[in-house]
Amino acid sequence: MTQRQAIQRQSIEVYGARENNLRDVSLHIPKGQITVFTGVSGSGKSSLVFDTIAAEAQRQLNETFTAFVQGFLPHYGQPDVDRIENLNAPIIIDQKRVGGGSRSTAGTYTDIAAPLRLLFSRFGQPSAGPAFAFSFNTPQGMCPECEGIGKTVQLDMERFLDRSLSLNGGAILHPEFKVGKWMWKMYPLSGLFDNDKPVQEYSGEELHALLYGADVKVSFGEFGSRYEGLIERFTRMYLKKDAAAMSGRARTIFEQFTTSQTCPVCHGARLNGAALNCRIDGQNIADVSALEITDLIAFLDRLSDPAAARVAGHLTERLHHLVDIGLGYLSLSRETATLSGGESQRLKMIRHLGNSLTDMLYILDEPSVGLHARDVARLTGLLRKLRDKGNTVLVVEHDPDVIREADHVVDIGPGAGTHGGQVVFEGRYAELQKADILTGKFLS
Ligand SMILES: [Zn+2]
Repeated sequence: MTQRQAIQRQSIEVYGARENNLRDVSLHIPKGQITVFTGVSGSGKSSLVFDTIAAEAQRQLNETFTAFVQGFLPHYGQPDVDRIENLNAPIIIDQKRVGGGSRSTAGTYTDIAAPLRLLFSRFGQPSAGPAFAFSFNTPQGMCPECEGIGKTVQLDMERFLDRSLSLNGGAILHPEFKVGKWMWKMYPLSGLFDNDKPVQEYSGEELHALLYGADVKVSFGEFGSRYEGLIERFTRMYLKKDAAAMSGRARTIFEQFTTSQTCPVCHGARLNGAALNCRIDGQNIADVSALEITDLIAFLDRLSDPAAARVAGHLTERLHHLVDIGLGYLSLSRETATLSGGESQRLKMIRHLGNSLTDMLYILDEPSVGLHARDVARLTGLLRKLRDKGNTVLVVEHDPDVIREADHVVDIGPGAGTHGGQVVFEGRYAELQKADILTGKFLS
């Protein structure tokens, strides 16, 4: 390799970026360093970092997969740029909510739940089996009643059925069972009911058939179907699904017609009896997962068994990362669907800190948002950890305390929209301090 080639490989080279308001921007971004992109809102920094560099890296990475796999990936168009050289595989840590269903928690998402399960499988008494027997997402670990959700959901009959009305009159109130709809037809076509008789006048037998089913076939003309009662059918079609994973509208309707209660068997702990009986220093895995992270660390620090304390050490280190980034108030059992955008982004960082990939291109969008001043210093510590693992870190950011930690600063501007789109400053933070144009902006 010539020296020139070696130097080229040390930076990502962007030539002729024109996405949105960018004015033919060319620049070199040093690899293995933290580069912070600054500029007023609308200056074009996001167009450069996200719409150009991240989009192209993602697009090229997706092209390495087979056409079959690509069908499952988001599609990225070619950004308006002449070319970008020496890109690395990207990991984009944005503020999109993590979301996920009820089975996704802070513990499962960051994978910190795994070493905790290991700890209980090796040191808990009485033993409940291997680590997976402590997971509410495996058949061996989940509570059989709620299947690991911690809640049981019932159809609310009072809201589902207006008993003063007949089938033809619209007694079934759920929108999918409206008069004339396919779901509704099963009941009048069953031959089991007087379709004009109000439900409150049904005999006990008729009501039972309406709610719980009867052993008859219903003919829909061209095809037949086994008859299902309302509760039976609703349970199969809706209750067996995870409400947290439903779309907004489906979920609203679902919640309108159901009541949920804490699972009467596991009391919300999600696990089966064997897993919950297994304890370390008097606590089971559900107890400690429900602790705030700071309290969980204190529990692990107090472990009496020295061998257990050694295994806990690794776990504690990862929990400290959560505290470092201002999430010490979360518990591992917190569902990710309930996290804010800022919390989601910080949890994504922790998840990536746990992997051992190197030579990646990390791209972060204003990670300081929602952080207290003291936590910003901890955030920059995590950025340095990502860098020191051998990665390139690009950050779009306003916060002066984050900018100060940058190895390299790129300021896009000078103004917004048509008044921006150019590289105004590029260099080390120390040089930025000397640059007159920026002094007032950052260091006032
Ligand atoms: Zn349960």
